[in-house]
Order: sequence, then structure tokens, then C-alpha cells
Amino acid sequence: MERCDKMIPLSVPNFEGKEREYVNDAVEQGWVSTAGKYVNILEENLKQYLKAPAVAACQSGTAALHLSIIDAGVQAGDYVLVSPLTFIAAVNPIKYEKANPVFIDCDDSLCIDPYKIKKFCEEECVFENAILKYKKDGHRVAAIVVVHIFGNMANMEMIMDIAQKYKLKVIEDATEALGSHYSEGRFSGMYAGTIGDYGAYSFNGNKIITTGGGGAVTAKNSEQVHHMKYLSTQAKDDAQFYVHNEIGYNYRMTNLQAALGVAQLEKLPEYIQRKQNNYQRYKELFDGFELCSLLEFEKGIFSNKWFYSIQINRKYIQTDLEKILAMLMERGVQTRTIWGLICEQKPYRNDITYEIEKAFRYSKCILNIPCSTNITEDEIKKVAETIKNVLEQLVK
Ligand SMILES: *Cc1c(COP(=O)(O)O)cnc(C)c1O
Repeated sequence: MERCDKMIPLSVPNFEGKEREYVNDAVEQGWVSTAGKYVNILEENLKQYLKAPAVAACQSGTAALHLSIIDAGVQAGDYVLVSPLTFIAAVNPIKYEKANPVFIDCDDSLCIDPYKIKKFCEEECVFENAILKYKKDGHRVAAIVVVHIFGNMANMEMIMDIAQKYKLKVIEDATEALGSHYSEGRFSGMYAGTIGDYGAYSFNGNKIITTGGGGAVTAKNSEQVHHMKYLSTQAKDDAQFYVHNEIGYNYRMTNLQAALGVAQLEKLPEYIQRKQNNYQRYKELFDGFELCSLLEFEKGIFSNKWFYSIQINRKYIQTDLEKILAMLMERGVQTRTIWGLICEQKPYRNDITYEIEKAFRYSKCILNIPCSTNITEDEIKKVAETIKNVLEQLVK
């Protein structure tokens, strides 16, 4: 079968680098579990890349977020502000600690809206004795989880100002934004995940680089990172004797995963470059097309352009995303609907929502389109043509 007759996948991992060499080496050395040189090399290389004080490699992005929530001191009954338009893994760790999310709307970057955070803090809360409290029940608002959606970056200047004013911890979910950084403004040169108090990264199979499953966490200072690393290794105080002074977790990355990760990280700059070039190609192909548009990335940032999104123009097309997705799939183009709102998921239906408008609207009109780092020029053309044809059929 010709390549162009096959389904063009949404996003597949790419192992063009030294993955086999390093994984074989780890197996040959016998270091496959949580001890071994690749875990340390990956941490060191990530630290250098991100210009972070220290990095701890862990089992998943979810584990990285959970460790951040714990180290940030989020307690049972606290509130944590987060956008509902995200992957549920950004929100679940709040509940692991028996705290509760307050869902704040997103803005046009698809990231949490800083103006609505500000308004929520000013109008729905009181600030007493350096503690922000939700007026209705007096519970503390402890933190903000900021997700940098699809490689875009949230408005961190405003978010950090609000956080400083109200003594809130900021946890950046940079799982989709490894390599994205500001190119202008107060945080120019700073990477997603290194601006707030904590930053979480993921190396799951569909992220820009992968370790099969894995993640990493960083923080403002290396003591905090060391504490999270300690928690990730069962909080074992003593290398020889089994002394434990805290409740720990089995969250540390394995050497096998890290061997993949070291090879993948070597390719990251090139993968970002390809993502950016391919985005540009799509942009040219969709230029002037009225039925959908390619979502822009924010000005003033260098984005890794991890995922590309088309926004269906609801003025002309009312068809459900699920139907459009199925029609594209029949024609060999795999797409993905954006997430359902977390505040509408069963475990979260009773949680507080605040002025959710844009998140709701965007959740009904965005599809992610194929974006693998090894997608070809012909495939990109086919994707764009297929989308245009399908949407033209759907105009009423
Ligand atoms: C992928 C992802 C996570 C979770 O990472 P895992 O490594 O799969 O646990 C968290 N938040 C967001 C926004 C993600 O996209």
C-alpha cells in the first residue's frame, strides 16, 4: 500500500536518535531500575536545558504534579485554582490531597485567564493574615495550577503578580510545553515550568519527547527538588537502613526510561524546529479558508508548537466535533477533539466553577490535527485538503 493511502496519525513518537544505543547499554550494564547513570544524566541535561536549579525525574507527569502539590503544602480542604479546559491529570492530584479545585475560565490562549483569577480573588475571597480565603466557607485558597496548553504559554507576568499579592503557590503544568519560553518581557529567556514555584513535565508517548511513560519536576530552589526526589523514592532517609520520616511514593523514573529520555532530549531542539516549520506549512494551507482557522500561538513566546488546533467556524458549521472527527477518520486523517470540561466530569460536578464561558465555547469547536515530528510535506497537504473538503460538505 502507498504511504498516502494509510491513516495519517495524530501524533506518534519518533526514535531517530541514539535511543537503541542507550537502552541497550542500560540493559547490558544491568541497570534497568531506579538506580543508574541515565537517570542522573537526564536530570543534569534537563537542568541545563531549562536553566533550572535542579530537576527530579519521575514516573509520569501526573507524579510530578502530585509531588508539586504536596511540596507546595496544599492541605485537605484547601482550594486550588485551575482551568477546566485541560487534561484531567492536571486536576486529579489536587483531589489526591483532599483539596478541591476552583475552575476558572480560560482566555483565547486556551490557558487560564489571569483577569478572571484576579477578579475571583478580589470579589469572591478575603485576604486576612496573609491568607486568601474563599468568602462562602472560609477555606484557604492555596495555589494556582497553570497549564501551558498545547505548547502555548499562559500570561505568567500577571499570574505571578497575583500570586505574590495573595501568597499563592504557582504550579506550572508544562507537560505540553517542554522547550517553550518567553522571548519578550519580564521573563524573557525563561522556560515554561521555571517561572512559578514548581514546574511539571511529561514524557508520555504523545509528548514532544518520550520515555514511554515518565516525567520530571523542578522548583524554585534545589532543596525543594531534593525533597520531591526523596518523596519519590519512598522517603528513604538512609541508603543502608530502612529509615523513613515521611510518607513516600514509588514515583522515581527508571534507568531504562531515562536511557530513552537522554537520547530524546538530544533531539528536542530539532523536533521543535520541525514542529514550528510544519505549523507554518499548515498556516499557509489554511490561510484565507473561512470554515476553520489554525489557532495562533501567543506573541512574545518561543513555542514548541507541540499540538496544532483548528477552530471550526461555528457561524457556518454546526456539526458536532465527534461527527467531524469520524468523517476525517474515514478519509485517513486522525484528529482529536479537545478535552471535555473537567468541571463536567463525574468526580468534579460539585466543585466550584467561576465564569466559565470561553472554555465551554472552545471545548465545542477545536480539533487537534496530525503533528508528528516525522510527518511529510505530502501528508500535511493531504490533511489540509481533507479537512477543507469535509468542512465544505458540512456547510448548510
Ligand atoms: C500529558 C499531560 C499530563 C500528564 O502527564 P503523564 O505523564 O501522562 O502523567 C498532565 N497534564 C497535561 C495538560 C498533559 O497534557
